[in-house]
Amino acid sequence: MAGKAKDETAQHLAVETQLVTAGRDPQRFDGFVNTPIVRGSTVLSPTVADLEGHTGRYTYGRRGNPTVEGLENAVTQLEGGAGTVLVPSGLAAVGLALLAALEAGDHLLMVDTAYQPTRRQCSTVLRKFGIETSFYDPLAGGDIAALFRPNTRAVFMESPGSQSFEMQDVPAIVAAAQAHGITTLMDNTWATPLYFRPLALGVDISIHAGTKYLGGHSDLNLGTITANERLYPRLRGLHGDLGMTVAPEDAFLAARGLRTMGVRLARHYESGLAIARWLSQRPEVLRVLHPALPDHPGHAIWKRDFTGASGLFSIVLKPVPKRAVDAFLDTLALFGLGYSWGGFESLAIPFDCSAYRTATQWEPGGPTVRLHIGLENTKDLTADLEKGFAALRAAS
Ligand SMILES: *Cc1c(COP(=O)(O)O)cnc(C)c1O
Repeated sequence: MAGKAKDETAQHLAVETQLVTAGRDPQRFDGFVNTPIVRGSTVLSPTVADLEGHTGRYTYGRRGNPTVEGLENAVTQLEGGAGTVLVPSGLAAVGLALLAALEAGDHLLMVDTAYQPTRRQCSTVLRKFGIETSFYDPLAGGDIAALFRPNTRAVFMESPGSQSFEMQDVPAIVAAAQAHGITTLMDNTWATPLYFRPLALGVDISIHAGTKYLGGHSDLNLGTITANERLYPRLRGLHGDLGMTVAPEDAFLAARGLRTMGVRLARHYESGLAIARWLSQRPEVLRVLHPALPDHPGHAIWKRDFTGASGLFSIVLKPVPKRAVDAFLDTLALFGLGYSWGGFESLAIPFDCSAYRTATQWEPGGPTVRLHIGLENTKDLTADLEKGFAALRAAS
C-alpha cells in the first residue's frame, strides 16, 4: 500500500496515470515494479503476544494476501469506494453483492436486460433464501418508484443492457431509490471504471467481471465488488464468513492487465465505433446497437453519463434464414465464435433474448449478432466481415 501522502496525490492524477500507479508499492518489495505473487495459507507470528494480538499485517492466507490486496486497492482507487473484495468470477461477484445487500423477506428489482446468469441467480439462489425478485424495464428511469414495495431493499442495474444495449438513467434511478432508503447495485463491466464510475453518481455497490477488460487477455476469471462506506463492512464480513479467496496468480494477472487497460480501451473504443459506423452503412444490416452512435435511443444518456465506450455492441441483420446467419458467422476468420469478451481478440456470437426476458418484449426485427471488436487492425476486420456478408448473401 502506498503511504498516505502518496494516496492523496493519487486522487488528483488522471485515470490513465492511476491505472499505472494504483495498488503498487515497489519499496515494499525491494524495488520490484510489480507486486509479486505471494503464495501461502499460514502466516507465522514471532511471539504468542503477536499471534493473539494480531499485530502482523496478515494473519492467514484466506484473510489477506499482498498480491490480492494490491489489486483490491487498485480497484478501490479507480471505482472510488470504501473498499473492494475479489471473488473467483464475475458471476460470483453479482451473487455475493446481492447477498450482502439483501435478507430473507426482502424484495429485489432486477433490470430485465441483466446478464442472463444474473437473472438466473434470482430464481435459484435468492429465491431459495426467501428473497423475491421482480424484473423491470431498463428504460424505467425515475418511474421505477412506482414498482417499490414496502419490502423493496435493492435495485440492480446493468447499463448498457446485456446483448441489447439499452441505456439506463442511473442518476434518476439512484435518486428514486435513495428517497426510499433502497440500496442500488450496478454491474459496470461494459464501461470499466475508465468510462463510468457508478459510486460517483451515488450507486452503493459497483461490480465487475474482471474476466473481461481488467484481465484483458482471455486468460482468467475474476470478479470485483466495490462498495461505499455504508455497505463495505457488510460486504467484507460476508466475504470472510463464506471463506472467499482468489488465487494470487489470478490477482497478479488482473493487476498486470490493469496497467495497460487505458491504451487497450482507447483502441477498443475507437475501433469499435469505426466498425459500428461501417456496419450501419451495410445493406445487410438493419440496425447497429451501439450507444455511442447518435441514432441509438440511449445516446443522450450515454453522452451525459459515460466518457467512452468499450468494444462490445450488437447488430440486427435484415431478415434472413438461420442458415445465412450461420454462414456469415462460420465464414468469419478473425472473429472467434465464443462466449465472454474483453480480451485482445475479436469475437462474434448469435443471440436471442426473447426466451428469457419478462418485463420487456424483444422484437428486434431480424437475427441478432453480438460483436466484440478486439485490437486487430480495423481494415482486416472489415475485410473479414465483408467475406462473411458475401457468404450470408449466397446462403439467403
Ligand atoms: C461476463 C459477465 C459476467 C460474469 O463474469 P464471469 O467471470 O464470466 O463469471 C457478469 N456480468 C457481465 C456484464 C458480464 O459480461
